[in-house]
Amino acid sequence: MSNPFSLEGRTAVVTGANTGIGQAAAVALAQAGARIAVVGRSSMDETIAKIGDPGRVHAISADLSRTANLAPVIDEAVAWAGGVDILVNNAGIIRRNDALDFTEDDWDAVIDINLKSAFFLSQAAARHMKEHGGGRIINIASLLSFQGGIRVASYTASKSGLVGLTRVLACEWASLGINVNAVAPGYVVTNNTEALRNDPARYKAILERIPAGRWAEPEDISGAVTYLASDAARYVHGIVIPVDGGWLAR
Ligand code: NAP
Repeated sequence: MSNPFSLEGRTAVVTGANTGIGQAAAVALAQAGARIAVVGRSSMDETIAKIGDPGRVHAISADLSRTANLAPVIDEAVAWAGGVDILVNNAGIIRRNDALDFTEDDWDAVIDINLKSAFFLSQAAARHMKEHGGGRIINIASLLSFQGGIRVASYTASKSGLVGLTRVLACEWASLGINVNAVAPGYVVTNNTEALRNDPARYKAILERIPAGRWAEPEDISGAVTYLASDAARYVHGIVIPVDGGWLAR
């Protein structure tokens, strides 16, 4: 019997794959058998080394905050691998400030990368996938897709919007054989949360609320991504899987 979790013969595009959750997802998808196009604006050397098979990974350099750069990412992945079956929209940033003082720059920068680039990269991928038997799109959401948070107005708006986008694209593209879903990580030890972890009071308050009793490592998030990319999830459309150590259940 074939393994429904195997990604042998598939090609995945993972954005923001040089570090953190994106790097761990790229490594996990490769371990499941996929070829990986790793996309971002920083060196992908560490991720390529972790994947350990240079022939199965291709680095694409792109600043994803510029819409003009998005379709060429899919074109380059297709030129490299012959097709794209899986897209993981992981690249994202956060800006922290009181809502009363929040600037237009901190609003636009976060919305552009977390929401707008995820949409237009998905559009470019889906235009390819619909002609080639379908595919999988997996958006990296957040607990702030469900909750408000504090001092992160544009981030909460972007991640709440990303879940709405996941649902509308799932509805529009299911008939094309494209499954669109999301994974919502809890608190993960990455660059994104460095400021929180450097604030002893916030770090302790967050830790005490996590039923699992620890922050997540990036690798904790990869299983849900791999599942959604696989045949095991072929009838799953428009859902958000929290991977949060029980945070939302509390
Ligand atoms: P991270 O280590 O800061 O990774 C963010 C990634 O996005 C990096 O690879 C970064 O590249 C890339 N990126 C940012 N702006 C970009 C741009 N304009 N063009 C191309 N790439 C860009 O943080 P992370 O925690 O792994 O974040 C990954 C995703 O998970 C984000 O969407 C984040 O919102 C989400 N998330 C994180 C947590 C958490 O607790 N850490 C929780 C929920 C959701 P550079 O290194 O070049 O900047």
